[in-house]
Amino acid sequence: MKQSQMLIPTLREAPADAEAVSHKLMLRAGLIRQLASGVYTYLPLGFRVLKKVQEIVREEMDRIGAQELLLPAMQPAELWRESGRYDVYGPELIRLKDRHDREFALGPTHEEVITSLVAGEISSYRQLPVTLYQIQTKYRDERRPRFGLLRGREFLMKDAYSFGRSWDELDVTYRAMYEAYSRIFTRVGLNFRAVQADAGAIGGEGETHEFMALADIGEDTIVVSENGTYAANLEKAETLWEEPAASDAEVPPMNRVHTPNAHTIDQLCAHFGLEASAFMKTLLYLIDGQPAAVVVRGDREANETKVLNALGGEIIELADGAVVERLTGAAVGFAGPAGLSGVKLLVDREVQAMTSGIAGANETDYHTENVKPGRDFEADLVGDFRNAAEGDLSPDGSGPLKFYRGIEVGHVFKLGTKYSEKLGADYLDESGRRQPAIMGCYGIGVSRILSAVVEQHHDANGILWPPEIAPALVHIIPASAKDEAQMKLANDLYRRFADAGIDALLDDRDERAGVKFKDADLLGLPYRIVVGREAAEGRVEFKSRAEADKETVSADEAFDRIK
Ligand code: ATP
Ligand code: MG
Ligand code: MG
Ligand code: MG
Repeated sequence: MKQSQMLIPTLREAPADAEAVSHKLMLRAGLIRQLASGVYTYLPLGFRVLKKVQEIVREEMDRIGAQELLLPAMQPAELWRESGRYDVYGPELIRLKDRHDREFALGPTHEEVITSLVAGEISSYRQLPVTLYQIQTKYRDERRPRFGLLRGREFLMKDAYSFGRSWDELDVTYRAMYEAYSRIFTRVGLNFRAVQADAGAIGGEGETHEFMALADIGEDTIVVSENGTYAANLEKAETLWEEPAASDAEVPPMNRVHTPNAHTIDQLCAHFGLEASAFMKTLLYLIDGQPAAVVVRGDREANETKVLNALGGEIIELADGAVVERLTGAAVGFAGPAGLSGVKLLVDREVQAMTSGIAGANETDYHTENVKPGRDFEADLVGDFRNAAEGDLSPDGSGPLKFYRGIEVGHVFKLGTKYSEKLGADYLDESGRRQPAIMGCYGIGVSRILSAVVEQHHDANGILWPPEIAPALVHIIPASAKDEAQMKLANDLYRRFADAGIDALLDDRDERAGVKFKDADLLGLPYRIVVGREAAEGRVEFKSRAEADKETVSADEAFDRIK
């Protein structure tokens, strides 16, 4: 690649509306440009990185036997009605009509499409298990597209779906996928943690993990015990209050409802022998009208928090302030600090994105519905919850918890039969009985990875690409394009790298050396070879982007160090 011929529009300053470091640097380095909110063009260098990430993902998927295909982005609304998600999915789903007034959606995810495909093509246990994946553009009309590629409305995802005959078989696939994900995120250079997660809008009955790249800009909070045995996502605590997008007028007035099976904090404390404190709150989860789980959380000073599963009567002891979000696998929520609590209501085992909340009223047999954060109480009270539990003992007792901010770069999920039952993906087992396939789904934010990597790998002057995904491995910079000896040596090196199959970028522009160095730091290729005054003697300056030291070495040695 010769820089004089390439479209690499670097910028001195980032546009004022770019907040995240990665967003600023990716704009400044000429990797991406915004077309509309949350919709981006990948310029040549950005696209090279994107392709390298895709290649790593492909290699690791192929290695565990997943087969690549490509599903349509345009999906008939009918399929989404069959799965029951058309209405539930909410405004994130981009809906459109064709000329015959038939309704479609632009795929935010592909459970429906893949399950209906498998329903038509697979009929015998002999054809299972099978795992299919694609790398494809997804569409989600995010409420807050932001931070460049981190939260786009059009973005690239790798999504895989497994179909098997038993939960044991799913366990094996899930494990293989989990390990493939760990390899992928290691290879792209991310510092990440795999954390237990919550079912969220996909629904389903099984285990789920998120892969979180650690970064302060991350929108998720994760809690990890010191030795790493316990790691979970606290995201739901926040998103509960973030999701209601409805205006005040759309949410009916706050209302007190009779819920005879509800427990008050006092009843629970009496039942479980806890001392009630002013900060303790209850959360009630109703499933099919029955209370499913109750969270009780003490204030920090009381050094006493217990999480109670009211259905099973099981008590999970926690130390001071620690919170467990998922009790039954079906409910999530959190306790707020001032008599307020949030809950996601599960209807028919499907998490509904709520447009209003239900809050514990701390009153026998009554709860409050249609609670609107910001209208009925201060929305920022949530922050207190997030900060409350650092240093507390993890739920599994493995050590004190630390809080981190994370970027969700991947998500693996044991779906079970939720979609296969609804969309008829069944097969005949060995004894000729019809069985629904047991599914898993597995996503990676391919484009989001680029931003996550830049969040983790940069300094004041620009990006520091990890070698495996760098747009090129080496930047060759003749100090002066007018100097014949320099240009000759630079071109020689450039050709040698090309012959060796190593991507090099040759800065053959007629620019001042200072300008070229600034751009080189910004672009962040792992190695830099400056061909300067000693070119006639065949000597160059070698530097790695991550280190300050430069060394003068022979051109041969510079080549050998990289190849
Ligand atoms: P988030 O919690 O960030 O909204 P999600 O849980 O909705 O993500 P999934 O449905 O699990 O996302 O999708 C699989 C992966 O796709 C995510 O782990 C993430 O890396 C990526 N992804 C999801 N939404 C976006 C987006 N708006 N922009 C870029 N990548 C995204
Ligand atoms: Mg989302
Ligand atoms: Mg998520
Ligand atoms: Mg997710």
